[in-house]
Amino acid sequence: MEHLTSWKKDKWLIVGASFMTVLALLFSALYYYMLQHMVTRYHVWVGTERVGVVSSPGIVEEWLRLKQEQVKQQNPEVQTNVLIGDLHYITEQAYKATYDNEAIKSALEQKIRIVLSGIQIRIDGKPLGQVKDESSALQLLEQYKRKFASGEDVVSAEFTQNIELAPVALNAGQISGNEELLDKIEAGAAQPIRYQVQKGDCLSCIAHKFHVTQQTIYELNPSLKGTLIRAGDELILSEIQPLLTVKTVQKRTETKEIPFDTQYVDEPELKEGTKQVMTLGENGLKQTTYLTTRMNGKWVEEQAENETIVRPAVQALVKRGTKVIPGVGTGSFAWPVYQAKLTSEYGKRWGTFHPGTDMVSEQSAILAADRGKVIFAGWKSGYGNCIIIDHQNGYSTLYGHMSQILVSDKEAVEKGEKIGIMGRTGNATGVHLHFEVRVGERQENPLRFLRPSAE
Ligand SMILES: [Zn+2]
Repeated sequence: MEHLTSWKKDKWLIVGASFMTVLALLFSALYYYMLQHMVTRYHVWVGTERVGVVSSPGIVEEWLRLKQEQVKQQNPEVQTNVLIGDLHYITEQAYKATYDNEAIKSALEQKIRIVLSGIQIRIDGKPLGQVKDESSALQLLEQYKRKFASGEDVVSAEFTQNIELAPVALNAGQISGNEELLDKIEAGAAQPIRYQVQKGDCLSCIAHKFHVTQQTIYELNPSLKGTLIRAGDELILSEIQPLLTVKTVQKRTETKEIPFDTQYVDEPELKEGTKQVMTLGENGLKQTTYLTTRMNGKWVEEQAENETIVRPAVQALVKRGTKVIPGVGTGSFAWPVYQAKLTSEYGKRWGTFHPGTDMVSEQSAILAADRGKVIFAGWKSGYGNCIIIDHQNGYSTLYGHMSQILVSDKEAVEKGEKIGIMGRTGNATGVHLHFEVRVGERQENPLRFLRPSAE
């Protein structure tokens, strides 16, 4: 019995264990089943409101992306933005839970806000117009700038006005095309300008010139009374000017010659009036850079920026003879009277030939035109009282019609020495000097040998 009892005990143990095993299997099967049917879903919240349940946040994100695209296509002229409040998700895992990926779309449609915007261009605070975006605005401004600032020599180009690109909310119809805005800039507006009254100006002339009424001038210049204006007065006027001003600075380089100097050295061994070039002079070369400022293409000022010596000039060295030989001319002539006024020149005259130059002066002294030796001093037919000086260098000079002769034949005279007094002796119609220059026997035009300024 003892044996049987123990067997019974074992049997119960086996039954219990089997039952537990089956139960465990059942539970795992159930757990496995439930696990198979667990669903993760996402509650979609906008701010404090739950708007739906979806299987994945991607459903919402994708719908928003498509919406952005659709709005953009419907409003190609402006910038578009689809806004939605604080969008967030709460994740939930539940047995056989449901969601509705379609319902969320119409729910979101109620929550979004569509914003259309553009860029307003403001010039010194005044709106010019609206364009789609900043790049359109910058393109428009560049286009206007390029009209005045093209070429490699442009150093800088900037607007003198303050330009603002301000984002503004607007609709498609409020956008302007670039061409339209460029025309508006060019058409311009009346701008005050300062005007300095010129000699000969009158109020109505100025009004006409600037296409304003005189009334406008009075309004712009309250201190102006009556019609009296003086040259140099400053008036405020108004002139139609483009809305934008482009200030450009251009660089240009100019190459110029630098003239050489000549250094003269007195040479006592060399005859007076002669020169000897020791070193030939040579012009140098310099390069100057100028900066030219223009406003909308109109010249304003030019400044030399820097100067570079490309090649320095070479100074000429010339020996100047100082050796005086009495009675021998220097080779250059001085005027034979002070402050001479020409009355008749060398050349054809009244069907004959006038072989000299006639001159008058308030100063009556006659001076030797160069150093030389008197070879004639006396009366000569037609010439009256007459002196001829041989300069002993191939030249001789003749002085006619004098009232008085102050030197005698064979006398040596210095250049500028007083040799006689102006008169009207011989064939003369009035008091004057008849002056001749001869090369050998040939009478030349004296003005070829005298400096232009008659002194
Ligand atoms: Zn004469």
